[in-house]
Amino acid sequence: MNPPSAEQIYAICKTCGECCKRYAISVLPRELAREAKFFKLSEKEFTAIYTRLLVQIVPFSSGQHPLSLHTSMIPQNVWKKLQAAGFSSDYAMILPMVGFKKKEYCVFFDPKTTSCTMHEVKPAQCTLFPFTSVEKNIDYAKAYDFCELSRVEKPTNEIFAAQDAQRVEMRNYFDAVAEKGLSNVWKNIPNAGDIIYNGKIISTITLNELNEWLAAAKNK
Ligand code: SF4
Ligand code: SF4
Repeated sequence: MNPPSAEQIYAICKTCGECCKRYAISVLPRELAREAKFFKLSEKEFTAIYTRLLVQIVPFSSGQHPLSLHTSMIPQNVWKKLQAAGFSSDYAMILPMVGFKKKEYCVFFDPKTTSCTMHEVKPAQCTLFPFTSVEKNIDYAKAYDFCELSRVEKPTNEIFAAQDAQRVEMRNYFDAVAEKGLSNVWKNIPNAGDIIYNGKIISTITLNELNEWLAAAKNK
């Protein structure tokens, strides 16, 4: 018997909304263009209404990369929060993304119908969930025990291929940000948002502050 297709797998999703509640969802420029079109909005309107900055900080080995910097260059108020959250590396990589606004749930989740209001065009990050780990042999039922889908299905080769494609696209996106700058990758950028470390929001950030960090990282 053939393994289930991605469509069959996602038909099993219970639309409980737990993933839409727990995670900060980011989009790529190509995805945002498609989503704005779905809602018959310009990209500028969609960005202003629905998005925020998401700046992920990850430990890094050196200051050699155009998006990495020594942690002494991180403003004290943010650095203290990073340390309190367990960050201990001397260097940090700054990964600027655009994500969806969120209160209790992602702005696109409708609690009345318990469904995504843009299911047809939701980002790959959502389409792939819960099968998003870089580890091939992860026990998804254990790692995401809140998710019914993770308990009843296993990722297929089709899912692994989609994961690989998503990783390549993310890598290309960050390479483009490093080479061309954020404002050349995004036509429209939200003016404020959150800093994320280890999957948790630790602080807010404005676009001006982010641009200062990126300039410091590039010109070090
Ligand atoms: S993917 Fe899992 S957690 Fe998300 S809505 Fe479906 S069943 Fe719920
Ligand atoms: S875009 Fe849709 S599927 Fe993704 S987190 Fe938001 S509501 Fe959930």
